[in-house]
This record gives sequence, structure tokens and C-alpha cells, in this order.
Amino acid sequence: MSKNYKITLLPGDGIGPEIMKVAVAVLQAIAPKFDLTFAFETALIGGAAIDATGHPLPDETLQSCKNSDAVLLAAVGGDKWDSMPSHLRPEQALLGLRGGMELFANLRPAQILPQLIDASTLKREVVEGVDILVVRELTGGIYFGKPKGIVADENGVRRGFNTMVYTEPEIDRIAKVGFEAAQKRRGSVVSVDKSNVLDVSQLWRERVTAISSDYPDVKLSHMYVDNATMQIIRNPKQFDVILTSNLFGDILSDAAAMLTGSIGMLPSASLGVAGAPGVFEPVHGSAPDIAGKDLANPLAQVLSAAMMLRYAFNEGAAADAIESAVNKVLDSGKRTGDIMADGCEKLGCIAMGEALLAAI
Ligand code: NAD
Repeated sequence: MSKNYKITLLPGDGIGPEIMKVAVAVLQAIAPKFDLTFAFETALIGGAAIDATGHPLPDETLQSCKNSDAVLLAAVGGDKWDSMPSHLRPEQALLGLRGGMELFANLRPAQILPQLIDASTLKREVVEGVDILVVRELTGGIYFGKPKGIVADENGVRRGFNTMVYTEPEIDRIAKVGFEAAQKRRGSVVSVDKSNVLDVSQLWRERVTAISSDYPDVKLSHMYVDNATMQIIRNPKQFDVILTSNLFGDILSDAAAMLTGSIGMLPSASLGVAGAPGVFEPVHGSAPDIAGKDLANPLAQVLSAAMMLRYAFNEGAAADAIESAVNKVLDSGKRTGDIMADGCEKLGCIAMGEALLAAI
């Protein structure tokens, strides 16, 4: 009997609907080969949801996500909604989803594919073989800390402020995710903080060190975030797992992403407690500059679908099949504009999707 999985699709804004279409077609093509069936439910998020309902994350969307086996998200945001009050901006939907589904761990692999080494802005010898996993805490820290706001004093001078805060249990649970990921990889964790300046980072470092004693097979080291930023550019091959907080992870994962040449290639997974549905999405945003022009690279979205098969459904063989189709298409010299190289054939988003289906 075939296995059936319920997937909530959140296409969102900008290039979201274009790349989601490709990922769904790929999933549908893979399904019969592995005796799988997928029940897709599409829900509104971001600017599209604001336009339809006045809210970036309608209750029905969150409910659909919670009731599914996994969520495949594209991206949200765009100029049209930039002037909205901050609690009604599309990006609030992402925070609401992460908070509402308790997705406290964000896994962002940054692995350079051999076919794309020359798409990196860094030298071949620096990036060849790079394989980093950034494990970022996702529901705590400065993005959620209170108090926060903008207030005016009696002279009308305004003050903006946020609070960077972590509790011991929040640090402990993300540290465990980092160590467990390292056990499945090359056994090394670099924990990134700013403990020379921030009290919250001192607690972070103390707890990560304490939790490390449960993982004697994993080598732990610590690095300040300013140095880590430099090291990612200077010698990225030194990293296996980078374990870090919400704000630092947001920045470092984008820096790591660019080592690989294109943000259009990178998937990510956001996971909660065991058994709860995770959210799988590309690292990139809604790319409003190229939306609707058939220029988007759908591969990060497709690779996010592969991550979903592997991490949410334990369907490793089906995930492998998608990843090998991506490799096959790249081996044949087909490229979207963002990863274009001399001698390659330039394709739009739709044609790249067709090439993937042919490879499957
Ligand atoms: P972005 O990732 O959307 O775009 C950055 C650059 O990369 C652009 O030049 C874009 O054309 C290019 N790019 C991104 N994805 C691509 C793809 N698949 N194929 C080809 N090129 C691609 O980041 P931004 O410009 O800073 O943000 C645009 C909007 O997206 C903003 O509203 C922002 O808030 C939002 N955003 C959303 C998410 C998300 O939904 N997870 C993440 C980041 C930014």
C-alpha cells in the first residue's frame, strides 16, 4: 500500500508561486516511483494573505500547517507591503509560523556543488569541498525578546529598542540539535556567540559547554561572531556544524549561502519537537526584482522538497532521486541566469522545471 503524506503548500509572494509550481511537479513525478501519494493543500501567507484577508498569517493557514505532515514554503514579502505597520508586514507571517509551530531549530546546509564552483565569487581553492550546516535558534533571541518598541521621551526624542534574551532550556534544546547533527556529519561544532560583550552570550557559551559533555564524540569550539564572519569568507572548509542564536544565524547563514555561488540553490529545514510537522523552504526571499519574469531559479525550492522527504518523511531514497535529478540537469550544462557560466545553456524557471522532469 502506498504511503500518503499531507503537505501544506505556502507559495507566498514574488517568485514564490513560480518556484512552488516546479517543486510540486517534481514531487508528483517522484511519488509513483516510490509508492508515495501526496495530498496537497495550498494556503495563503505573506503579502498574498494580507491582500485577501488583511493578515499575513491567517488562522486557517496556521491550522492547515499544524494539521499536515509537513509544510513546503516558498517566500514572502515585496515593496507593495513595505509601508504596512510592522505587525502587519509579510515577514511577520514567518515569525508567526515559527512561533505557532514551535519551530525552534533552523538547519541551513551550505554545500558547494562541484558543477557550480565557478559561480562562487570566491577562489576555487577556498570553496571547493565546502560543506557547512548552520544550526540556528529560531524562536528566541532578539527577534522575539521583550520589551521592544519605539518610544518618545518628554522632549519628543524617540528611542528604539529590542531585547536579546535566552533561557537555559532554549539554549540546551538547540545545542542538542547541533550536537546530534554533528554526530551524523563530521563530528565538529563551532558555537558562535559574542560572549566578550553580551551577558546573554555568556549564558549561551556556558550552557553549550555543559551540554557538550553528553556528546564526547563531538569536538566543540567557540568563536566570536565577528571572527566567525571573517573565517567563513577566509577559510570556510574549517566548519562542519555552526551552532548559533537567531540573529547571528540569520546573518551567518546568508554569508555561508553566498559561498555556494547562488542563494537560489539553498534549501533549509525548520524543525520543532519530535513528531511535529516541520517547515521546508528555500533560504532566499521572494526576489521581487525578477518575479513574474520566468527568471527564478527553482532549485532551492526543489531541494527543500527533497529535504522534506528526508527529514519529515524519512523517505531518503525519494530525496536522493530528486537530488540526483538536480545534479543530472546541472551536469548537462543547464543553468538559470543566477548560476549561469560560460558554455552553459540558459533556461528560465519553467524550462528548468521541464528539464528536471525529464531527468526524473
Ligand atoms: P531575496 O533573497 O529575495 O533576493 C536577493 C537577490 O537574490 C535578488 O537579486 C534576487 O533576484 C536574487 N534571488 C533570490 N532568489 C533567487 C532565485 N530563486 N533565483 C534567482 N535569483 C534569486 O532578498 P531581498 O531582495 O533582500 O528581499 C526581497 C523580499 O523578500 C523582501 O520583502 C524580504 O523581506 C523578503 N524575504 C523573505 C524571505 C522569506 O520568505 N523567507 C527571506 C528573505 C527575504
